[in-house]
Amino acid sequence: MLRIAIQAKGRLNEKTVALLADAGISASVGSRSLIAHAKGFPVDLLLLRDDDIPQAVAMGTADLGIVGFNEVSEKDVNIERVLDLGFGGCRLSLAVPREADYNGLEWFNGKRIATSYPVILSRFLKENGIDAEIHTITGSVEIAPAVGMADAIFDIVSSGGTLIQNGLVEVKSVIESQAVLIATPGLDAEKREELDKLCFRFRSIIESRGMKYVLMNLPKSSLDEALKILPGMKSPTVLHLADPEWLSIHAVIPESQLWERIEKLKAVGAEDILVLMLENIVK
Ligand code: ATP
Ligand code: MG
Repeated sequence: MLRIAIQAKGRLNEKTVALLADAGISASVGSRSLIAHAKGFPVDLLLLRDDDIPQAVAMGTADLGIVGFNEVSEKDVNIERVLDLGFGGCRLSLAVPREADYNGLEWFNGKRIATSYPVILSRFLKENGIDAEIHTITGSVEIAPAVGMADAIFDIVSSGGTLIQNGLVEVKSVIESQAVLIATPGLDAEKREELDKLCFRFRSIIESRGMKYVLMNLPKSSLDEALKILPGMKSPTVLHLADPEWLSIHAVIPESQLWERIEKLKAVGAEDILVLMLENIVK
């Protein structure tokens, strides 16, 4: 039986539970207990604060963990990074007050930087030969400069809205992060096999996200033009309709390109375009 450590509550919890559910692992995680037994796959879920997940996995208390890469990098423990999960995207960046006379990384020499990520920050400063004072605070790092606790901050940024609200400007992105699946190094063969199955499910879910399944009717004479517009898994599916002048075309299109491609397809004569959700892509 595999034990997976996940965030008990917080920003990653909901998407983690949704990913597990899509992979056929459902547990009543709403309960307050530390451990939830899942249905559908031989796993237990260990509900932890995200700070504790890297260590729990490094020690083998949990075989696997789902946690932000930022936490893994900060804790600096020996784990295997198995799979990037495609959610919880953010970066850790240095930011300075808007009015600062910032002129490059040397600006940080002799400055006080507030952060909840002292390990990553000191590693970065050392690599760049910068000598700054690190003030470790948990909680609202972004207010530290305004209250005089620091000259700058090193913190999580996603949209950048929080920085703007606090009169700060991002000057250097240090690491990119997203939720990752991590594993205890050297899992035994049986657990490794379960992990491989789980990864197979996760990959097919992650791959299908952001993709749409599109069906349309197309005049036969437009086929060559339509094929230039359409991608597909290998290539689009082309089926005959009862009416010999028309075809039915099926294709998988990334959501980001959906409307642009549909407009082009309509321009070459496509009609009755259906856009469907894709649940899984199994390769
Ligand atoms: P816990 O109670 O588990 O310690 P936390 O308060 O430390 O939770 P959350 O705020 O729930 O952590 O964030 C969890 C993770 O979500 C972060 O470590 C980061 O990987 C990711 N994340 C993505 N976007 C953001 C964001 N805008 N702000 C903070 N974290 C983000
Ligand atoms: Mg935390």
